Amino acid sequence: MIDLHSHTNESDGTYTPRELVEAAASIGIEALGITDHDTFAGYELAVPIARERGLDLVCGIELSTRAVFGHGQKTVHMLAFFLGEGGPSSDFRAWVAELLASRRDRNIRLIRSLNEHGVDISLGEVEAMGRSLTGRPHFARVLMKKGYVRSIDEAFRRYLAESAPSYVERDSPEIGEAILEVAKGGGISVLAHPVRLGFRKPEEEERFIAGLKDLGLRGIEVWHSDHSAADTARYFDISRRLGLLRSGGTDFHGANKPGLELGTGRNGNVHVAREVLDQLRAGAAMVR
Ligand code: AMP
Ligand code: ZN
Ligand code: FE
Ligand code: FE
Repeated sequence: MIDLHSHTNESDGTYTPRELVEAAASIGIEALGITDHDTFAGYELAVPIARERGLDLVCGIELSTRAVFGHGQKTVHMLAFFLGEGGPSSDFRAWVAELLASRRDRNIRLIRSLNEHGVDISLGEVEAMGRSLTGRPHFARVLMKKGYVRSIDEAFRRYLAESAPSYVERDSPEIGEAILEVAKGGGISVLAHPVRLGFRKPEEEERFIAGLKDLGLRGIEVWHSDHSAADTARYFDISRRLGLLRSGGTDFHGANKPGLELGTGRNGNVHVAREVLDQLRAGAAMVR
């Protein structure tokens, strides 16, 4: 069993890098990908601990990008894996640092918007919940703590989701730019949880993914906690038809995504075989 999609408390998970590595080792996970949003800090802290525990640790990151399809502009999550020696280039790290700056700007505007919608909340309060970065799940926790909502889910529904009146846009890179930066930086780009794109027609979904491949996309996430068995089968077939690499993971966030277990997902709906990582590595090494 492996898990190539997880978050530490350096982004919006609740486990420290040490807790995450130890949890993975204790349940017999052979390889763990840490894919925090917009930061490598959690991965880096986990490196020596994974070495101690004999866990194969994979360097990753999750990027929020934007793309136009269906009814206008949407946010698309992209995973990047750095599987070779040396990890991400310094140029790529600098590019990621700029993403963190745009996130902070979004947070300032989100606080202002929540205030305008009658919520008493300050930037300091939410930043105190996070470490390398502050994300909407941290806002959700503060909203819960202050009694505005009873669950993280309700916090998103009422205040934080794209459909909520207080939502604010974040200035994120266009998906083609992100794919290019990842490739230049020594990584491979993998479309995260494609089911969240929300396509109803499989032909349209496949056409969109084919378009991303033309931009340089290298793989898609076939196994994910949000995927039904039918979704997984469909993405497996799409990866075969389009010649894309395959990845998979639970998207574990600790208490920030209740009901979702490391390695096995929701009620055991995720199973990622060791060979998936071997093939990802072999595929990544083939270009350049
Ligand atoms: P951010 O990167 O700060 O915009 O926040 C994105 C994070 O919020 C990701 O980890 C998502 O999984 C999480 N998220 C987005 N929508 C929801 C939702 N409806 N319920 C719970 N978590 C969500
Ligand atoms: Zn997250
Ligand atoms: Fe995601
Ligand atoms: Fe994620």
